[in-house]
This record gives sequence, structure tokens and C-alpha cells, in this order.
Amino acid sequence: MDEKKKKFVQENSDYDYNDSSIGEIERRPHDIRIGSLNLAVIWFLEAEVEQDIRILTPTPPRITRELNAAKSIWRTSDGARKVEINMIYSNYNDSNQIYTEKLDEKVIEEIVKIGKGYYKRADAYVFYLPGNLIMDTQKVGLALDRIIDNEHTYIVIMSNGARARVEPTGEKKGNDYVLAHELGHILYCTNYYGWKQDPKPNDDTLKGNGKPDIGHHDDDTEEERRNLMAPNSLGPGVIPTINEDQLIRALQSRFCLPWNPGPRN
Ligand SMILES: [Zn+2]
Repeated sequence: MDEKKKKFVQENSDYDYNDSSIGEIERRPHDIRIGSLNLAVIWFLEAEVEQDIRILTPTPPRITRELNAAKSIWRTSDGARKVEINMIYSNYNDSNQIYTEKLDEKVIEEIVKIGKGYYKRADAYVFYLPGNLIMDTQKVGLALDRIIDNEHTYIVIMSNGARARVEPTGEKKGNDYVLAHELGHILYCTNYYGWKQDPKPNDDTLKGNGKPDIGHHDDDTEEERRNLMAPNSLGPGVIPTINEDQLIRALQSRFCLPWNPGPRN
């Protein structure tokens, strides 16, 4: 056990630490109250980020708004528990025109390599790409988990379709919280204890093995349908909610541990 981890275990031994689990994955959850998720954000040619591409600073308005939405929802109202969502690196890339409709494994690998070429140590890489829908789905955002160059890599793809906007017809589309939803998947799927589901998983979307789909909240009631992690909760203008159980689960992400082992463990 490294020093940082040992120190944490000692400091927290009163309430959440089980002796028999030294050196193993602890089965009893640590009560992490504040953790961080460090993102590298890269926007590509023709991604609609609401900024002239020649201006590299400050961060494009759309990206700032969506990061703020994510920061505002992954916390309790008093801030006693929160996931601090940090953009530790950002850049614009004009080397390729990569449309979300045309994404495939090869292209995903290509953009991850671009991202890692800029910055190696992000917990997750967020890519803003042109295109309205992702591959042949109806999705406007996507969270992925891939092993690239022998490194476990967490990826979010954001399309132009996710951008909150008013179309020329007057129709409202997109939602600023799509990024927050996709980051929820990343936080869940990196759960230190292996509990990768939402605390109240969606039972309509059982996979072949009888398990709920990856990290979606149940959507039986009106209230549940407004939940950030419910599938299809993010209609235009909707301000979603989360509950404390979800935040506790998110804070169990390995990225939120004080000794953050990073994405590659
Ligand atoms: Zn989802």
C-alpha cells in the first residue's frame, strides 16, 4: 500500500475501514465527501462550441456552460458532498473533420491518441465533434470505456446535436446537462467496489444477462423521469435532478479516492 493510501486508511479507520481488507479492494464504502474528476477537453473542426475557431482562449461558451451544468448537479445543495469537475486541459484540433455519424473504433482510437498526445494524465477525455447523432443511434452524447495502447481510457463524445439551441424554426433542441449525464456514466463505471449501476437501476433496459444497462436510473415515475441518469431525461430546457444516493455512488469512483490511482490501474 502506498503512503498516501495508508494515511487515508488510518485517518478513516473509525467509520469505514475494515481491517481484513488491507491491501485488497475494501468492501465497505469509504465515505468520500469531496472528490475530483479531471478532464481533458478537445474540440474539433466544425464542432459547434459557439466560438470563432481562431480564438483559442478563453474556453468556448458552450463548453463552459456544460461544465458548469455538470459541476452544479454532481453536488449536494450545501456543497457538503460534491464531485469537483475540473477541466485540467483543453485544446482545439483542426487536423481532421470527424463526424459523430461516422465514428467507428478506428476513429475513436485516432482521437484518443490525439488527446493523449496533448495531455497524458486526464481521468477522462471529452471530445466535441461535428455531427448531430452518434453513429447510427439517436444519441447525442456517449460515454465509452476502451483499452487503447494498453491503457484503460475513459471517453465522452459530445455531438452538435447535444448543444442547447433554438433552431431557425423556433424549435428548442439539446440540453446543457448531456455532458453531466455522460460524466455520470464515467463515474459509475469506475466504481472502486465494482458497483457500476445507478443505485436505483433502470429495470426496463435489462441486458441479455439480466443485468440493467450501464448506469441508467429507473424511469417509472414522473420524478424519476426528470433524473439526470434516467434514459432520455434531457429534453430541451429540462433541468434534471439527482439524489444523494447517486452522489454517494459517484463519489465511490476510483477517480474520487484521495489516492486517485488514475485511469490506468
Ligand atoms: Zn446514458
